[in-house]
Amino acid sequence: MPLSRPTIGEDLQADLHDLYRHLHRHPELSMQEHATADLIAERMTALGAETFRCGGTGVVAVQRNGDGPVVAFRADTDGLPVAEETGLDYASTATGTLRDGADSAVPVMHACGHDTHIASAIGAATLLARDTGSWSGTVVWLFQPGEETAEGAAAMVADGLWDSAPHPEVVYGQHVWPGTAGTLEVATGPAMAMADSWKVTVRGRGGHGSQPHTTIDPVVLAAHMVVRLQTVTAREVPPQQAAVVTVASFHAGLKENIIPAEAVFTVNVRSLDTEVREKVLEAIRRIITAEAQASGAPEPLVEETYRFPLTDNDEAATGALVTTFREVLGEDAVKAAAPVMGSEDFGTLASAIGVPAVYWFFGGLPPEVVDGDEPVPSNHSPHFAPVLEPTLSTGVTAAWTAVMSRVGSQR
Ligand code: ZN
Ligand code: ZN
Repeated sequence: MPLSRPTIGEDLQADLHDLYRHLHRHPELSMQEHATADLIAERMTALGAETFRCGGTGVVAVQRNGDGPVVAFRADTDGLPVAEETGLDYASTATGTLRDGADSAVPVMHACGHDTHIASAIGAATLLARDTGSWSGTVVWLFQPGEETAEGAAAMVADGLWDSAPHPEVVYGQHVWPGTAGTLEVATGPAMAMADSWKVTVRGRGGHGSQPHTTIDPVVLAAHMVVRLQTVTAREVPPQQAAVVTVASFHAGLKENIIPAEAVFTVNVRSLDTEVREKVLEAIRRIITAEAQASGAPEPLVEETYRFPLTDNDEAATGALVTTFREVLGEDAVKAAAPVMGSEDFGTLASAIGVPAVYWFFGGLPPEVVDGDEPVPSNHSPHFAPVLEPTLSTGVTAAWTAVMSRVGSQR
């Protein structure tokens, strides 16, 4: 029997709007989501779930209702160091401290929309708690910290997540994005790219700006590296394959007449395929080493700063879920998506125990904004402002549908 769209009801909708506005006003930086975790634990405990902390500020809530399948659903919880400029009456004025201690107070905003993820998961868990006759099994709700820094999923796994929580047959997750509110987009296979970030310290020999022949100028050397790195995707990756190589930060020197001893830049790589990834990383290393040799400079220091896994949507699990999404939300509301080159650490939660995962996007903007002439603010923009509805009811319905597609007693 097909699932039909759940009734959220005015009381729950009003409650979720309040919860969302509260979370939006009080964002916290990655791995410091203390008040957020307290609130989530309180709400999930009130629904009868067994909750425990995991990976620092992560919260696991196990919602049991008799025998049956075990399914996991992940919602990430962190905000970003962005000063909100949405003008909303519930806009954030919160500040936080970055863990490197460089700044005592930075503005914090839920600029990636993780507040919609938390509210949607709590909404779906509330629907399940209210209607225990319609399902049987166990739902493991994973409220994951530190997505933006690629730390949280790994921290939960390292903290014994799967030693403490029942193992699910599948892990689901979702993300709000600047698509039309009320719709979902789902990719099959690779959904989001792997990412690798390196910090490259180019070592030369400093000296007087008027006597370059007595130095090894790391600025010229590093500039050659940056230019040549552009050829990796243009000349080494097959044109049918996707890859991105971006150098977005470059620092060297203090004064026009002092050639510095070193230059530092970062390189960020995105790929959808492990072979392509290996090829790109090897090429980058080769270019960095060879350019240093060409200048007679020492071997540069290359440090990995972070790494995101592939978000890989299992074909069978995705196909089944898309069918159910269409039953519940309507054919037109569920679109097939191409992979995006953004990255996520979601995949770590499922790959740690070798189970399939499915991840989708839900729209957060009115159609007139999405289809309008003005540029649409993306996630991480200080202007990113999802509309409450139908964004939240769609997030709740999608989370509920995914879980019910496995534990619903009619299935
Ligand atoms: Zn983000
Ligand atoms: Zn995000």
